[in-house]
Amino acid sequence: MTRDIHPGRLLGKVVVVTGGARGQGAAEVEALTREGARVIATDVARAPGCRRLDVTSESDWAELAAEIREAHGQVHGLVNNAGVTWRARVDDVRPEDMARVHAVNVTGPLLGIQHLLPLMRPGASIVNIGSSAALTAHYPVAYTASKWALRGLTKTAAMELGHRGIRVNTVHPGFIETDMTASAAPAFREVNLRETPLGRTGTVDDITPLVVFLLSDDASFITGAEIPVDGGFTAHGGAKAISDALRTDA
Ligand code: NAD
Repeated sequence: MTRDIHPGRLLGKVVVVTGGARGQGAAEVEALTREGARVIATDVARAPGCRRLDVTSESDWAELAAEIREAHGQVHGLVNNAGVTWRARVDDVRPEDMARVHAVNVTGPLLGIQHLLPLMRPGASIVNIGSSAALTAHYPVAYTASKWALRGLTKTAAMELGHRGIRVNTVHPGFIETDMTASAAPAFREVNLRETPLGRTGTVDDITPLVVFLLSDDASFITGAEIPVDGGFTAHGGAKAISDALRTDA
């Protein structure tokens, strides 16, 4: 069974993906390419097929924008996917940790929007990759605060760019199997599973169909939206433990 309902939905669209070297970014590059997009995969890490771009660097973004202007004249989509975590807690996180994580997770997407905006025409679409951390009190405070900030950036950008016909939306992944979660403690996985109504972790293939959809013209009236892809993790506000404790049918 194929999950591609309309193959070629992104035919001819030029799309930039940040953090495209591995994990969700690499899967997005693959899925968008399959849908016909001309994908410019970027990452601070070196990887085959990936152009080097540090999302925190204004000069990297300026160079990329100039290259795209020269080669394609415009850009139809941007996926602000690059992100870093830092698992210090509120009592020991340092200001420099807060600043470093914010730079990648918030300033990076802002710079991407600012530099590629002049190349965007009505119909262009920006997808920011948030996190279930952006909807909860997830303990790694630098990461959580940065993803909440990204929500604010996305909402404001959606409002500010609407009159230009440019859409900006957020996808909030839950626990997705990538290098980022592979480095987490085993208890993190166990509790996530327990608190996830669908009872499993997510894969990169759970995220990509939504990213494809939001970049496509099928989503042409959707902007400022925030869509969790988390198996229900953020849907129950802590009530799952009560439901599980009182269940008599399992
Ligand atoms: P990952 O660590 O596998 O991949 C992140 C990629 O971002 C890497 O290739 C890395 O080199 C790149 N990157 C880091 N700093 C960069 C910079 N300054 N400039 C350019 N690229 C940079 O993680 P992932 O799980 O694929 O994460 C993708 C996105 O999804 C991130 O924004 C992350 O916060 C978010 N997210 C992940 C999960 C999860 O469970 N894996 C959950 C919620 C949200």
